[in-house]
Amino acid sequence: MRYSALKILKEGLSGNKGWKPAWREPEPKTEYDVVIVGGGGHGLATAHYLAKEHNITNVAVLEKGWVGSGNVGRNTTIVRSNYLLPGNQPFYELSMKLWEGLEQDFNYNAMVSQRGVLNLCHSDAQRDAYIRRGNGMRMSGADAVLLDEAGVKEMCPFLNFDNARFPIKGGLWQPRGGTVRHDAVAWGYARGADSRGVDILQQCEVTGFQMDNGTCVGVYTSRGSIKAKKVAVCVAGSSSRVMEKAGLRLPIESHVLQAFVSEGLKPVIPGVVTFGAGHFYISQSDKGGLVFGGDIDGYNSYAQRGNLPVVEDVCEGGMAVMPMIGRARLLRMWGGIMDMSMDGSPFIDKTDVPGLYFNGGWCYGGFKATPASGWCYAHLLATDTPHEVATAMRLDRFMTGRMIDEKGMGAQPNLH
Ligand SMILES: Cc1cc2nc3c(=O)[nH]c(=O)nc-3n(C[C@H](O)[C@H](O)[C@H](O)COP(=O)(O)OP(=O)(O)OC[C@H]3O[C@@H](n4cnc5c(N)ncnc54)[C@H](O)[C@@H]3O)c2cc1C
Repeated sequence: MRYSALKILKEGLSGNKGWKPAWREPEPKTEYDVVIVGGGGHGLATAHYLAKEHNITNVAVLEKGWVGSGNVGRNTTIVRSNYLLPGNQPFYELSMKLWEGLEQDFNYNAMVSQRGVLNLCHSDAQRDAYIRRGNGMRMSGADAVLLDEAGVKEMCPFLNFDNARFPIKGGLWQPRGGTVRHDAVAWGYARGADSRGVDILQQCEVTGFQMDNGTCVGVYTSRGSIKAKKVAVCVAGSSSRVMEKAGLRLPIESHVLQAFVSEGLKPVIPGVVTFGAGHFYISQSDKGGLVFGGDIDGYNSYAQRGNLPVVEDVCEGGMAVMPMIGRARLLRMWGGIMDMSMDGSPFIDKTDVPGLYFNGGWCYGGFKATPASGWCYAHLLATDTPHEVATAMRLDRFMTGRMIDEKGMGAQPNLH
């Protein structure tokens, strides 16, 4: 079933009786070519691109809850490609390009909104760092504009310029960054994969790996055993717990990250704004709610809920950069489990166990990576070689000393 304006009109005039579910609910088969563990954004994107780009359709996505129940449905929806290092930047720029064509690709409205991302700077040194980052971005074909204080004032007059503890000196602006409706991304990829024959199995928890002579040949699940030529793990915040079942320890810790939404307000924030002197970022949803967040909770946890000290910390950050937020009422908040890698960068790699592949370590920035992550993971699974923009995202990089230490985004306490 294709979605179009004509279809909406036709259905509207005929009682909306012709819509079909966006994906099937099949029974598990006993064997697949590829089993993807985790039906979040990355797992579903991988399935979609495996089927679409590599014609590998005998694939199942195994999700222990329901599609969209993990971080893909819990994040603050920001997409951008404003990274610095060569191990990351081309990957995130590929993701940005895929976002730009995504809705046509899977014929689903994901509300891709390129309203821009502005990183504020508060010191001369920080401005220098942004100039360097902007140049790095431009070298990989991304867009970056350096704004001075007047430029920021024109764009965001509501920020705290006059009485600020950390005066705003300017900002790095990426016009092509923005927001995307997060759970629509999961639904769109699920629909795209399903329409090409991929089985999406919800309420199907992987409880162990089937091993034959040291090779992974399938999984045990809450809905029975399933054999697979390749098993691709993609479970974000549950990475350590799932890979432990295969006897693997990862350079990843799990932490909670919280998100907050205010009551609906008239349009006030043009794009995404991030505070450069504390951990706070904000955008406004199409419904008018201010959507914001800040730091992780700072202790290891697998609970999908956060604690009050971080709520206070985030609200303080908001008040420091944008005092008028103190007049808005907080409507709701929630938490998700982040797979924090030790250098803040992700992994898309084979493991030492033949037949077992791993994708994770997305920290608190994996939503923007969803299309490129699926694209590159599908490439790895189909060809057994890393995609050219993901060659640095290897599991052995801590052993070889080739870390991608973007900005201390990982779980190192000294850098948080
Ligand atoms: C509050 C918050 C704000 C964020 N904001 C942003 C942002 O603005 N921009 C950005 O780029 N990123 C953001 N992120 C990060 C981003 O959401 C994640 O990095 C990304 O969604 C992780 O990939 P995923 O979608 O595949 O994860 P998930 O949706 O978590 O998918 C993993 C799935 O694996 C399933 N699973 C786990 N164990 C098993 C098992 N044993 N068997 C079967 N299935 C299993 C889980 O149920 C889950 O559905 C944010 C995260 C949070 C929590």
